Amino acid sequence: MLRKILETLSPTYCLWCYKKNDLFLCPEHLEIINSFLCPVCHLKFPEIKIKKITCPSCSQKTYLDGLFPIFRLNEPLEKLIHSYKYDLYFDLVKTICFISKEFIYNKFKDFYFIPIPSHKSKIKERGFDHIRLILENMDLKILDALLKIRKTKPQAQTEFLERSQNIKDAFVLKEKNLPEVVFLFDDIKTTGSTLNEACKILKQGGAKLVFALTLATK
Ligand SMILES: [Zn+2]
Ligand SMILES: [Zn+2]
Repeated sequence: MLRKILETLSPTYCLWCYKKNDLFLCPEHLEIINSFLCPVCHLKFPEIKIKKITCPSCSQKTYLDGLFPIFRLNEPLEKLIHSYKYDLYFDLVKTICFISKEFIYNKFKDFYFIPIPSHKSKIKERGFDHIRLILENMDLKILDALLKIRKTKPQAQTEFLERSQNIKDAFVLKEKNLPEVVFLFDDIKTTGSTLNEACKILKQGGAKLVFALTLATK
């Protein structure tokens, strides 16, 4: 509501530098990665190929077959995602989709995307499912294969070592017929505990290759 009022009174401004801008973030604040990485050591894979990217030595530490982040997480992007997710400016989904759609759409539009689910009480509190809303706005094929059955502390507020414990057994499988190749979708990959736990459930459900596609990684 407040933003609607501000919008009618003033032009759009960048959330980071406050310069006038059609979006809410100047393009020069974005550091593009747009590659497959090993989800554990972040070793960059030279090509965009739908095959296992995770290094053999890192495979013991993750269920994921690869990580595809669009951007490097920096302060301006973190501010944009934070405003969307916690300050509940859901209209920012348009900016998020505008800056990332091309990277996803050209390469991966034929695949199914599984949003990392939020607990239903969280969706109710927020008023929208922030991860799913991004996929919806990008017109990608969404597969609601996972359900979050337990409330967890926000990973961002959880100590590094506690994160995998915090998220353990928080998801169950909702979809019996999983495609062989799927992309898990989340906003930011930090330790990867959430993505790894979700991937574990999908692999147990029969998925062969599971990649994580995120807006950003540290
Ligand atoms: Zn700016
Ligand atoms: Zn590795």
